Order: sequence, then C-alpha cells, then structure tokens
Amino acid sequence: MKIGIVGCAGRMGRMVVSEVLAGAGCTLAGGTEQPGSAALGSDVAALAGGEPAGLEVGDDAKALFARSDAVIDFTSPDATAVHAALAAEHGVALVVGTTGLEAAHHDALAQAARQCAVVQAANMSPGVNLLLGLTERCARILGDEYDIEIVEMHHRHKVDAPSGTALALGAAAAAGRGVWLESVSQRVRDGHTGPRRTGDIGFATLRGGDVAGEHAVIFAGEGERVELVHKASSRAVFARGAVRAALWTDGRPPGLYSMGDVLGFG
Ligand code: NAD
Repeated sequence: MKIGIVGCAGRMGRMVVSEVLAGAGCTLAGGTEQPGSAALGSDVAALAGGEPAGLEVGDDAKALFARSDAVIDFTSPDATAVHAALAAEHGVALVVGTTGLEAAHHDALAQAARQCAVVQAANMSPGVNLLLGLTERCARILGDEYDIEIVEMHHRHKVDAPSGTALALGAAAAAGRGVWLESVSQRVRDGHTGPRRTGDIGFATLRGGDVAGEHAVIFAGEGERVELVHKASSRAVFARGAVRAALWTDGRPPGLYSMGDVLGFG
C-alpha cells in the first residue's frame, strides 16, 4: 500500500514517516508541507532520520493524493479540511490524527466519507481507545453520585486545550450517562465559581516539557474515588496506530471510521 504523509516535517509527521518506512505491507508515496516551510525540498525520509528515499518534501497535496492509496494527516484543522476534499476527489483513504477540529472540520470529514474511507481519532493509541470504552462503562455504572473530572497533561508545544483525547473521554463519559457533553462540560474554572453542579464533567489542562500525553478520568464519590489513567511514554504509539489505520482501510467501503473500528473494539 502506498502511503502519503501530509505535514511530514511536523513532530508527528516525521514519526509517521519512520513507521511507514519500517512497516510491512506499505511503501512511502511521499510527503508534503505547507508553502513556505523550511522543509520543502528536503528528502522526506532523511528528515525523519532515515536513509534518503529520493522523495522530496513538496507542497502539492493534490499530486500526493493522486499517487497514494492512503494519506495520513497530522497537520492543522483547516489543512485537514482541504485534505479531506482531496481524498474524496481522488477516492483515497484518509487517516486524520489532527485535533482541535470544530464542527465545520467534522462536516468536511463526513462529506469526504461519502467518497472514501476516513478514519478519524483524537488519539490513535490502543490504550486510550480501550480507556474510552472503560470510561463510558464506569460513567454508566456509577451515575451522577460520582463527579467526573478529566485531567490531561501534554508537552509545551501543544496548541489546543483541552486535548482532543480529553474531550473524547468527556464525550464517552457523557454518553455513559445518556447526556450530551456540551450541556454538562466545565472546560475552565477561574475565580469565584460557586459549588460544583451535579452532573457536570470538569476538565483540567496541564502543559509542560516533553510529556507525550497523559489522561486521567476521575470518578469522585462520597468516601471513594475511581481513577482511570493512561500515560503515553512515546509519541511513536500514535504514529504506529495511524499506520495500522491506513493499512486497515485497504478495500474498505467509503465511510467515517473510528480507531475503535480499526482495533476491533466496535
Ligand atoms: P506540528 O506543528 O509539529 O506538525 C504539524 C505539521 O503540519 C507542521 O510541520 C506544519 O507545517 C504542517 N502543516 C500545516 N498545514 C499544512 C498544510 N496545509 N499542508 C501540509 N502540511 C501542513 O504538530 P504535531 O505535534 O505533529 O501535531 C499535529 C496534530 O496532531 C495536532 O493537532 C496534534 O494535537 C495532533 N496529534 C494527534 C495525535 C493522535 O493520536 N490523534 C497524537 C499526537 C498529536
């Protein structure tokens, strides 16, 4: 399978390039960066720390989609929407790891999913996808008497908050309680907030250093607390998940898929 990487000079992009080069059953179709990037013209594989592969980083995403069977996207929400349209135009599978997506970006993915397979996940690690299922289950079993708080920490370069994974965990907890996250989420607390509202799902965001990604879902009841914790020790786990998702799309009909689908969690 020929896999293209958009945003190939980014932190995740480079890791995905390494995984594709090391992976069985796939070859690197090439990589793009945004116009003006200092990486343009560099060798895609060398940029990721590998042996030069004779593929230059370009800024022509259309040409990359035309020669790929699947494209992996860890870029920015607006770029992802453009890539979704190209995936649909070329009937090429798209794996989206970019976070911070808003309604318009999700619409663009849903639109593309009519023409091609799209896998979108705020977190591509098997462990976090397991955590999503456990969170929904705990929320359903424990109910409103246990206050739900979601704490996340990431490296200092991360630009969106709370993390896409924290929001996905919040959505899973809300689904377990049969409510919409939007109607119960407390994303920020500051100043005189008053007491905690029953049923709220709270978020706390920490940023610093090189933390690859840590999430805790806390169910705090009277006299006891249940904590579900996931710690990623290397970002390679996300890159491996993305390549696994790209390989999984081979022969899949058009549709919008989750990492749970890829991993067989349903
Ligand atoms: P980064 O800033 O290091 O990399 C993003 C890259 O995309 C940059 O090199 C940038 O130049 C490039 N880019 C932007 N617009 C582009 C365009 N139009 N065409 C081609 N390239 C373009 O960021 P990062 O740390 O690699 O993270 C990227 C995204 O992935 C973020 O949204 C982050 O939250 C998300 N992420 C998701 C997971 C997951 O498992 N789903 C894991 C880690 C990070």
